[in-house]
Amino acid sequence: MEPPARTHGGVGRVLSDIQQKHIMRACANRCECCKREYPRYILEVHAIGESSRINERQVVVMCAQCWHSTKNLPGHSALLRSIIAERPPEIRAKIQRILVKKSAPYMPETEFDLAEVFAEAYDNNGMDLFLNGM
Ligand SMILES: [Zn+2]
Repeated sequence: MEPPARTHGGVGRVLSDIQQKHIMRACANRCECCKREYPRYILEVHAIGESSRINERQVVVMCAQCWHSTKNLPGHSALLRSIIAERPPEIRAKIQRILVKKSAPYMPETEFDLAEVFAEAYDNNGMDLFLNGM
């Protein structure tokens, strides 16, 4: 069953709770509209558009008050775009990293296997490397 098409909202289908939390943190828990800091439950992450793969240009963090006072304005989309356009580059980069993580499977930070490194060293008579300095 297809959910009804919506221009805004429905962010829960696109972003996990954790991603939303990380995005709010990237914005220092501030509303990007009024720039005030709020407890997280006041803030909302909104996605523009319905794409299942959204980018940083399609998300905005707003407090409930800003959202509700602007969502029905004729220039709403333009307002959101201008808010996003003014976003500082470091926040932009953080949000993009959070979004990119979404579809990638979990990858450990380190790629080498310690047992393999050990076995290779043993084969090369390189065990001294491990024993020295102990
Ligand atoms: Zn606000």
